Amino acid sequence: MAYVIAEPCIGTKDTACVDACPVDCIHPKKDEPQFEGEELLYIDPVECIDCGACVPVCPVSAIFALDDLPEKWEAFTARNAAYYGR
Ligand code: SF4
Ligand code: SF4
Repeated sequence: MAYVIAEPCIGTKDTACVDACPVDCIHPKKDEPQFEGEELLYIDPVECIDCGACVPVCPVSAIFALDDLPEKWEAFTARNAAYYGR
């Protein structure tokens, strides 16, 4: 299992979750070239340790444990993984 960033991140993308993640598995970060071109951030499903630390810091509640991801945002699971070529 891994955590997934869903639609509410689009338009906010404030990177608060990046600083909360102990294993640095949320990208692109502000200093990465891909940051401007991506409308949201993504969690690496292989590197994520399921700690949940990113969830409470997100101002728009965009981050979900896979089991809690609303069905309407199902596609974001693959979208997060695809960013990392998973
Ligand atoms: S659940 Fe933990 S490891 Fe996974 S992205 Fe969030 S902060 Fe990082
Ligand atoms: S804290 Fe929430 S809105 Fe901000 S970048 Fe992370 S997922 Fe997106």
